[in-house]
Amino acid sequence: MKKYSNSHLRLTPQRIAILDYLEGNKNHPSAEDIYRVVAKRYPTMSLATVYNTLFALERRGQLVKLTIDQGKARYDPNISPHHHLICTRCKTIEDVDTLYRLVLPDTSFEVTESHVEFYGICPKCSKGRGKT
Ligand code: ZN
Ligand code: MN
Repeated sequence: MKKYSNSHLRLTPQRIAILDYLEGNKNHPSAEDIYRVVAKRYPTMSLATVYNTLFALERRGQLVKLTIDQGKARYDPNISPHHHLICTRCKTIEDVDTLYRLVLPDTSFEVTESHVEFYGICPKCSKGRGKT
């Protein structure tokens, strides 16, 4: 995400703080995650401002809203096509940058993009396994 480029996004200090936090962020944070961090520096920050900013960025195509985590939307500043590994325990979402050639049955459907979600247990969580 080129944080200050092109957008006719009105830049307030709060919005800049959100953009700074998202820049290069690979954790796929939720709105609440973002709020918790930026509110430390900007006590005037509200969750509504976070949501409004995320919505504006998403509408401009500068942010991808992921609906992988059923409970809450997660946000990805990496707008280039990639796939995701999802830990079903801790809800960690990791990028998978490999491009797969998916073979589809004959279809007249014109596929323009694809997103593969791999579910499983992350190394951190599988370590804790076994000991009960
Ligand atoms: Zn995990
Ligand atoms: Mn991602």
